[in-house]
Amino acid sequence: MDADLVVVGSGFFGLTVAERAAKELGLKVTVIDRRHHIGGNAYSEDDAQTGIEVHRYGAHLFHTSNKRVWDYVNQFTTFTNYVHRVYGVHKGEVFPLPINLGTINQFFRANYSPSEARTLIEEQAGELAGTDPQNLNDKGIQLIGRPLYEAFIKHYTGKQWQTDPKDLPAGIISRLPVRYTYDNRYFNDTYEGLPTNGYTAWIERMADHPNISVQLNTDFFDESQPVSKGNVVGNVPVVYTGPVDRYFEYKEGDLSWRTIDFEEEVLEVGDFQGTSVVNYNDADVPFTRIIEPRHFHPERNYQTEKTVIMREFSRFAEKGDEPYYPINTEADRAKLLAYRDLAKSENSVLFGGRLGTYKYLDMHMAIGSALSMFDNKIKPHFEGGEALVSGGVDE
Ligand code: FAD
Ligand code: UDP
Repeated sequence: MDADLVVVGSGFFGLTVAERAAKELGLKVTVIDRRHHIGGNAYSEDDAQTGIEVHRYGAHLFHTSNKRVWDYVNQFTTFTNYVHRVYGVHKGEVFPLPINLGTINQFFRANYSPSEARTLIEEQAGELAGTDPQNLNDKGIQLIGRPLYEAFIKHYTGKQWQTDPKDLPAGIISRLPVRYTYDNRYFNDTYEGLPTNGYTAWIERMADHPNISVQLNTDFFDESQPVSKGNVVGNVPVVYTGPVDRYFEYKEGDLSWRTIDFEEEVLEVGDFQGTSVVNYNDADVPFTRIIEPRHFHPERNYQTEKTVIMREFSRFAEKGDEPYYPINTEADRAKLLAYRDLAKSENSVLFGGRLGTYKYLDMHMAIGSALSMFDNKIKPHFEGGEALVSGGVDE
């Protein structure tokens, strides 16, 4: 094998490292992926019946406030002016999300001003006033009061995580804004949009460099092929973006993940729900949300006879399932520390990305973290001979 660097995994983390190493350092990079396509979980393709772009591993909305990441990704694609909004169904009624003044007034059948609404929520959250909640249940009640928590968060979170919200970290919900205005943008970030020609066109541009060779359908742990752990580690530097527990043969135990089953359907209507995402917040509906991908690209001339929808069902991942969201229980965190120690002593292998660090990373975070790994580890190694050791900023 004729490579200066091997990258395991062609998601945004792996491709960012590969692109930088090839373009800025002129290195020969071999990228492998066990799937039949590049792009990791951001991969999308056009549905055969309708031509509608479908995000194969769940809806992916790009948003960031990181100017460096925004400038970097704009080299490979332009973005539409799509702004993400989500609605939620509770007891047969549709409400705007995330929770904002519109949600509060509709829920309480009222006409509260921002300060009246604040006072009301403070009263309703009074049981936890002045505390610093560490779990999702208490954090949720403190943020929006018990009635709204029970309507919009409790059951949705129960369906999504199958874990008592008292056992989940508060951080899961802190990322959802609560607003005392009618602004129902889902994200607060400075930059937002969807890749104009789709995710796959963007991802292919990143890999399109004469020094980058991509090998699909190639598992790093399949020792019968040349770019395998046994054949490469110790001979060529590696950036590994697969699951960290798998790399070490699960010797510290399995890290727990949630996966999603997508139930996809083509319907003989032009428009099923009038928007891209509708959450189902009650316990009696088994799925968490319905995605209708045509609404991600209102600017496209999609046919109007049919539409695609995807219902999402969440469950614990078993071996063989796609690991999507790290659950991050206390037991997981203890195992992760042990894996990090192992990773530090694995010379010339860097662990990165969502699976390699067991961290929920949005796309812009995966790209930002890959750029940091390039600056702080890869470049100093190839230009100044520094050792390639995991640890520090990338964890
Ligand atoms: P991945 O994309 O997972 O790529 C890892 C790659 O490694 C995969 O292609 C895998 O096949 C490969 N691999 C693993 N093991 C091996 C092996 N043994 N040999 C060879 N290859 C291997 N982010 C947003 O910014 N906005 C969103 O709206 C959003 N929605 C999401 C929805 C869902 C359901 C999920 C799961 C994630 C979402 N994300 C979103 C996060 C986004 O998917 C990640 O930020 C991004 O995929 C991270 O890239 P990565 O390269 O770290 O990992
Ligand atoms: N959440 C909720 N009700 C909602 C939307 C979100 O309870 O209507 C909670 C839930 O616990 C979820 C978390 O907030 O896991 C983060 O929501 P987000 O929409 O960011 O989840 P993702 O799109 O990553 O699945």
